[in-house]
Amino acid sequence: MGLPRYELFIDGRYRPASDGGTIPAIDPSTGEAFAQIAWATLEDAEEAVRAARRAFDAGPWPKMNPEQRADLLEALARKIGEERFKTFVELEVRDAGSTYKKAKEDVYLSARALQVFARLARRFPFERELEDVSRPGVSRNYLRYEPVGVVAAITPWNFPLKMAVWKLGPALAAGCTVVLKPAPEASLSPLLLGELLQEIGLPPGVVNILTGDAEVGQYLVRHPLVDKISFTGSTEVGRLVMEGAAATMKRLTLECGGKSANILLEDADWEQAIDGAIYAMYYHAGQCCEAGSRLLVPRSRYEEVLVRLLERLREVRLGDPRDRDTDMGPVVSEAQFRRVLDYIALGQQEGARLLCGGRALDRPGYFIEPTVFVDVRPEMRIAQEEIFGPVLVVIPYDTIEEAIQIANGTPYGLAAAVWSQNRERAMEVARQLRAGTVWINEYHLLTEKAPFGGYKQSGLGREFGEDGLKAFLEAKHIYVDELGSRSKKPWYDTVIRPAQRPEPESERAS
Ligand code: NAD
Repeated sequence: MGLPRYELFIDGRYRPASDGGTIPAIDPSTGEAFAQIAWATLEDAEEAVRAARRAFDAGPWPKMNPEQRADLLEALARKIGEERFKTFVELEVRDAGSTYKKAKEDVYLSARALQVFARLARRFPFERELEDVSRPGVSRNYLRYEPVGVVAAITPWNFPLKMAVWKLGPALAAGCTVVLKPAPEASLSPLLLGELLQEIGLPPGVVNILTGDAEVGQYLVRHPLVDKISFTGSTEVGRLVMEGAAATMKRLTLECGGKSANILLEDADWEQAIDGAIYAMYYHAGQCCEAGSRLLVPRSRYEEVLVRLLERLREVRLGDPRDRDTDMGPVVSEAQFRRVLDYIALGQQEGARLLCGGRALDRPGYFIEPTVFVDVRPEMRIAQEEIFGPVLVVIPYDTIEEAIQIANGTPYGLAAAVWSQNRERAMEVARQLRAGTVWINEYHLLTEKAPFGGYKQSGLGREFGEDGLKAFLEAKHIYVDELGSRSKKPWYDTVIRPAQRPEPESERAS
C-alpha cells in the first residue's frame, strides 16, 4: 500500500499539483517518509491567488457581517479542539517532531486562539463615528476598517498548526481571503485544515492551502493580486519577503528570528530561574523563535548556576516524541540537524567551552543532546546568531547595566526575560530591554489578547490583540458634509473664483 497523500486545497477542493509532483513528509524521529505531499507549481500558486481574489472581489466573505465570520471561526475551533484533536496531535508529533506533551498543548491552544479571534471580530468597531472630529452642521466623520484584501500567509515548520491558525484567525476575522503556504518540512496539519473548512461551510476560495518552496513563496510575495503578506520565518527570508513585496507596496507583517536574552538577577529564586532557563531554551528542542538562547548570569553566581544547570539538564528526557514522558524530541529535518551541529562545531572553534551535550544521538532520526556553551563572549557568532536548536550560551555579567547592554547587543529583539524576586527592579530592567515581549519570572507564555512581535530585525508589525487584527485591515475615513451650502465651503473662494451671479435658492443655507 502506498503512503497517504495530502493534496493542495484550492478554491474549496483538494487536488494534486498541476504537474503531479510530490515530496515526502519525513518523520524526524526516524528520518523516514510516512506520507506524500502535493508539491505546488507556480501554476498552482497562480490558481490559488486567483481563487482568493475572486472570493474577495465577488464572493460574500468580505461583506459578511463580522458576527457570521466569528461563528465560522468558532465552528473551526470546535472541530480542531474536539472532533479532530487526536488526529492533529498525532500529525504534529509525526510531522514536526513535537513531543506528545507539546503537541497536545499546541492543538488545544490553536482552538483557543480561534475563539479569541472570534471574540475580537464580534467586539471590534469595524465602523464608528469619530465624535471628536464631527461637528454637527459642518460634517460627520466616520472611521471604517475594511479587510485589506488577499493575504499570502507564509509560515515556518516549528508550530505547523498554531502558525497557520495565528494567520488564518485574524485574517478571516477581518474579512480577508488567504493563500496559506506552510513550510515543506511540516505542512500536514495546515493541509488537513482544508477538510475542516469544507465541513464548516467556508465559501470556496476564501482559504487556499499549498505546500511549496521558496520560489512559490516569492511568487506569492510578488504577485500583483496579493495585497498583504503575513510572514513568519527567519530574518534572512524576511528581508527577501520585504524586498519582493516592495514593487507592489504590499502590506507586511514579519515575525522573524530571535536571540532572546534570559537574565538572572542576583536576587532571583534560583531553583525556579534555572528550571525556567531550561524551559526557555529546550522547549521543542530550542526551535522556538522566542527561545531564551542566551542565559545572562551574575559573575558572582556563575559557577553555582552551571552546577545546578548541569544537574537539572541530566533529568531532561531526550527521545521518541511519541513517548508520553519525553521532554525533548528531535529537530525537524536533516538540514536543521546539520545546521545545529555546524553551530556546535563553530562554538568550539570560537573558543567557547562545552559544559554538556554537543553530540547527536547514535540512532536514526535527528536527535541532538541538550547543549550548553560556557566561556562565551557576547560578540561570538554563537551568541549573536539564531541557532534554532537545543544550544544554550551562558554569558556572565558584572553589573545590571552590563547585562542590559549585552541583552540589547544583537540585531534581534523578539523577547527577553528577567528573573528576580524584586518586582520593581525587574520592571526597571524590562523597560530597558529592546524586545517585543518581556517576561518577569516566566517564559514562552503568549496570549492572543496582547500584541506579539519583534523590535529591530526580529520583525515588523505585531500579531494578536487589536493591533494584530488591524494588521489585516485598511483604515478608511469617510467625511460627510453637513454644510449644505456651496458658499460656506472653506474652499469656495480659494481656488475657484466666487460666481458672479447670486447663489441659487437651493444652495442657500437654511
Ligand atoms: P524560513 O525563513 O526558512 O521559511 C519560512 C517560510 O518562508 C517557509 O514557508 C518557506 O518555504 C518560505 N520561504 C523560504 N524562502 C522564501 C522566499 N525567498 N520567499 C518567500 N518565502 C520563502 O524559516 P523556517 O526555517 O521555516 O523557520 C524557522 C525560522 O522561523 C526561525 O528563524 C524562527 O525564528 C522563525 N520563527 C519566527 C517566529 C515569530 O513569531 N517571530 C515564529 C516561529 C518561527
